[in-house]
Amino acid sequence: MEEMLVFGHKSPDTDTICSSIVMADFQKKLGKNVKAVRLGEPNKETKFALNYFEFEAPELIEKVEEGQEVILVDHNEFSQSADGIENAKIRMVVDHHRICDFLTAEPLYYRAEPVGCTNTILLKMYKEYGFEIDKKIAGIMLSAIISDTLLLKSPTKTVEDEKAVEELAKIAEVNYEEYGLEMLKAGTDLSDYSAEELIGLDCKKCELKDKKAKVAQVNTADISEMMKRKSEFEAAISKDIEENNLDLFVFAITDIINSNSQAIVLGKETTIFEKGFNTKLEDNTAFLPGVVSRKKQILPVLQENA
Ligand code: MN
Ligand code: MN
Repeated sequence: MEEMLVFGHKSPDTDTICSSIVMADFQKKLGKNVKAVRLGEPNKETKFALNYFEFEAPELIEKVEEGQEVILVDHNEFSQSADGIENAKIRMVVDHHRICDFLTAEPLYYRAEPVGCTNTILLKMYKEYGFEIDKKIAGIMLSAIISDTLLLKSPTKTVEDEKAVEELAKIAEVNYEEYGLEMLKAGTDLSDYSAEELIGLDCKKCELKDKKAKVAQVNTADISEMMKRKSEFEAAISKDIEENNLDLFVFAITDIINSNSQAIVLGKETTIFEKGFNTKLEDNTAFLPGVVSRKKQILPVLQENA
């Protein structure tokens, strides 16, 4: 039986890495030969979760070959997927993002639900098939939901995510609040990353009408500490704008304790940001009270105002 690959998006986050591993486990229970792979380096938060529940990071791949059978989790946009995805055979997608820039030649299983995390959908799938979830798998599913919903504080969180967290925490035998805070904090240790790495760690490309933009995000427990490196970030962002011909770059530094963000915004289309958030950038930066979700609170605002 030919091996199918499952992977999430580039600049992998905890949901992307964990849903690949979980999906491979799910498919194994169905008797399928599916291998989890990744498209980039796991971040510190993800490494913490994998270590805690004793998983290895999936193998890194650079691209997919023509005709390779694949399953996509936690994304669908080709621009966020593996190089060569246009010529792969996409058999399945399980995702919780908008559908965009997506086309296949053949029928497929596609499941999208507007919940806070891919793993909330995966939990439902295990239940629908009557599959048991082992303790370690429950642990990384829980980690992913905590990560995507910022410990259930993000506006992307739904009742289903809350229930999933309760349920998975029981199976994983952890106190999710304590574990979750520890895991999120592990992800905020950013001191040994270069500015270039930080703006690329969790970065999504997006098209705003005919404009090219990137929206990057990092989590921190201390915005002012991060802002000490503002000029380094500005230099890295300017370089990225120039090299990739971007019209706009938004870098959101998100305070996971108080649920706010500080944005550093550069490019020739910064008015899209100013209009959208009804703010004036000062020294390329603006404070966004209550904003923690790129998907729900940043991207749609930019899209509407482009
Ligand atoms: Mn993700
Ligand atoms: Mn996700």
